[in-house]
Amino acid sequence: MTAQKSSSPKARRPENIWRERLRSFEARKDTIVNAIREFVEIESPSDSKPAADRMCRFLADRFEAMGGRARVHPAADFGDSLQIDFPGREKVKPVLLLGHFDTVYPLGTLRTMPCRVSDGRLYGPGVLDMKSGIALMQFVIEALQAWHDGLPRPVTVFLVSDEEVGSYSSRKITESLAKESAAVLVLEPAAGPQGAVKTARKGVGEYRLSVAGMAAHAGLDPGKGHSAIVELARQIAALSGLNDLKRGISVNAGVIRGGTRSNVIAAEASAEIDVRIKAAKQAAMLDRRLHSLKLFDKHCKLKIEGGINRMPMERTAGVAALYKKAKAIAKQVHWKLDEAAVGGGSDGNFTAGLGVPTLDGMGGVGSGAHAAHEHIMISELPRRALLLAGMIESV
Ligand SMILES: [Zn+2]
Repeated sequence: MTAQKSSSPKARRPENIWRERLRSFEARKDTIVNAIREFVEIESPSDSKPAADRMCRFLADRFEAMGGRARVHPAADFGDSLQIDFPGREKVKPVLLLGHFDTVYPLGTLRTMPCRVSDGRLYGPGVLDMKSGIALMQFVIEALQAWHDGLPRPVTVFLVSDEEVGSYSSRKITESLAKESAAVLVLEPAAGPQGAVKTARKGVGEYRLSVAGMAAHAGLDPGKGHSAIVELARQIAALSGLNDLKRGISVNAGVIRGGTRSNVIAAEASAEIDVRIKAAKQAAMLDRRLHSLKLFDKHCKLKIEGGINRMPMERTAGVAALYKKAKAIAKQVHWKLDEAAVGGGSDGNFTAGLGVPTLDGMGGVGSGAHAAHEHIMISELPRRALLLAGMIESV
């Protein structure tokens, strides 16, 4: 399963084969862009099951037309997730290509944020995170089928519908597919303008801290109340003391709610807290600290809910070995491929957490994920496709 098997091997130096392959993806660049545009123009926010299901069916048809066997995993609260199995010649474990088709953009976003090309960039909701990654899967599988007269090895594509909201409906399936796979390649966006792959990701936790106080009239009975807002404010100040950026720990109360009117001492207040950790062993410590917060006002009550959702993706030996392969493939076309550790989590955290070699950030290169200027660099698409093709062949 090496590149040399592809066309007529002995006549040429391997380097030329890679250059040729790159040229073939260059020639298909506009076709790839058109496919990405098609995907972007089917809106599929995580919170709309009918819209996400429409995208799921569309992609199932697309991949089945290429010879894949589609299996839809129904979900009650989110869109259905889509598994497509492609058979391969060699009887080896499949490579799992992992991604998601849900986006953070509500239905109707296309009206104000249309999919458009400008200055060599393709803009649109979800174009970087991660519909361009899905298109790369499509074109790379097609290319490998053409080069090898059928796929040299089995490939499983798994596209989930709830990655942007924690992957609660799809996580178990992702994990069971990963366990049966030789490696997981995650088509999430690359890191930075140079398109580094991601070899480490922080773990992510979500907590909610609720405070129950005692209401009173702020004018008539100020001494009788116990303000949930005051207690929450003091707790938040204490929580910020848990930040330890050097060790990769961050704690952020990003949303607060509480109170009813200005002349009432608040009976209730709550905060949503985002927690990031760099190493798995930090999870228990932080969880314990959050569950043992001390009251400032003894008349109030605290409740903490939530937990660490995605454990960190650590740069294990298996991850490092995949990166080494990726770097060697990139070198064939004189491309210096960097690696990056990032703060955001993905479903790659789940698969890496199981010990399955995982390489993330294999998707599009661009910036503005989840923002109005979200875009990919069109010129980077051929190299990304080449890298993915080489990785499927060699892991
Ligand atoms: Zn994503």
